[in-house]
Amino acid sequence: MGKRKSRAKPPPKKRMDKLDTVFSCPFCSHGSSVECRIDMKNLIGEAICGICQESFSMTINALTEPVDVYSEWIDECERVNNQEEDDAAQRSD
Ligand SMILES: [Zn+2]
Repeated sequence: MGKRKSRAKPPPKKRMDKLDTVFSCPFCSHGSSVECRIDMKNLIGEAICGICQESFSMTINALTEPVDVYSEWIDECERVNNQEEDDAAQRSD
């Protein structure tokens, strides 16, 4: 058996006092597993769940904050959920 590759743990994160960048995941419901990143160079906002690996990305502008990316993701999830509910309602008719 080879050596088990030990996962390097990231250093403990500092608590963000100014802006929240960590949120709860709409998919696995972990309380603080979603990390939002802002890529100002490419103007892309990304939200990634460290637990279930669900991710979301969107185009941003200079004023976009991590929480905006997150809420956009939640909106997107709700849209999808509502669509599924509509489909299910139609099928059960
Ligand atoms: Zn998740």
